[in-house]
Amino acid sequence: MNIRQSFKNLCQRLRQRYQRFKQAQRTPVPCAPRQQAEVVCKNCGETFSGSYCPRCGQIASVARLSLVNMSRTFLNTWGAGDSSLFRTISHLLWRPGYMIGDYLDGHRRPYLQPFKTLFVVSAIFTLTYTFSDSIGRLRTDEPEKEINLSVARTGQSEATAASEANMSAEELKSEKAIEESIDSFENLFQAYVAWEKENRVWGELIQFVIFGIVAYYLLRRAPRRPGLYMAEHFVAQVFMCIQMGVIVTLYMWLQLLMGKMVDGKLPVTLSFLLFYVNYRQLYGYGRLKTLFHVAISFVIFIAIFTSISLIVLVALTVKNSIG
Ligand SMILES: [Zn+2]
Repeated sequence: MNIRQSFKNLCQRLRQRYQRFKQAQRTPVPCAPRQQAEVVCKNCGETFSGSYCPRCGQIASVARLSLVNMSRTFLNTWGAGDSSLFRTISHLLWRPGYMIGDYLDGHRRPYLQPFKTLFVVSAIFTLTYTFSDSIGRLRTDEPEKEINLSVARTGQSEATAASEANMSAEELKSEKAIEESIDSFENLFQAYVAWEKENRVWGELIQFVIFGIVAYYLLRRAPRRPGLYMAEHFVAQVFMCIQMGVIVTLYMWLQLLMGKMVDGKLPVTLSFLLFYVNYRQLYGYGRLKTLFHVAISFVIFIAIFTSISLIVLVALTVKNSIG
């Protein structure tokens, strides 16, 4: 009897704690009260009380330029001085959909602009990735691998030479054309891979935009934000891109610490889960409906992305083999 009672109590306490957490997630960042002391604006001479001049907009707390001041101004540009960068990132981790909703509803001041944040996160990601890449290269015996590859290649070319001897000139010509087109296909693919490796977060953003357009048509009449603009949904996608960029960077650090190889990619199941949480908090559909929307968006996105890349690659290959 006693055990049952204490179990019940525990459940109740956990439920209360969860509800308090949910409440905190839904609450926008509070704003400090207005300063009551009177200030004379150093720019236009207006007397006022508050943080900013109501006539020209200059900040009330203008101090003389000092080293501390100057470095704070520099840091503020990137959201590090007033901690808006850290707030944006941490809120994207613990209340992502609600935070994005707040931003769309006009709570802009507490957060760093999405594209600035994306820029910073992309830079941190690239630094981490380059760092992990050089560590990975130290760990594996790459030179040995390369030798093995070149051995395999010479073996291959001997085999092709032997088979070429048995072919007519006509056959050889068409064979060469196909080989060349395959080569150019390979080069193109490699160029894309190289670009993606350097600009992973921006490459991801392109995919996010395609995914976002699909999701927009499913979500634009959402209960929490009916009459959603495409631009609003686009900004929401940028925030989600930042969120996943941060998580993948943390994931890379974890992999590095555990001595594993780093590929700089989020597992598909995790990104699916994140989209689910984001969309549920932001758009307010029920569990099943949100799941359905994310799943359908994934399927349509994969179909569109595959066909676009196939069309582009085939078109470029054909063009290259003609030219
Ligand atoms: Zn003024």
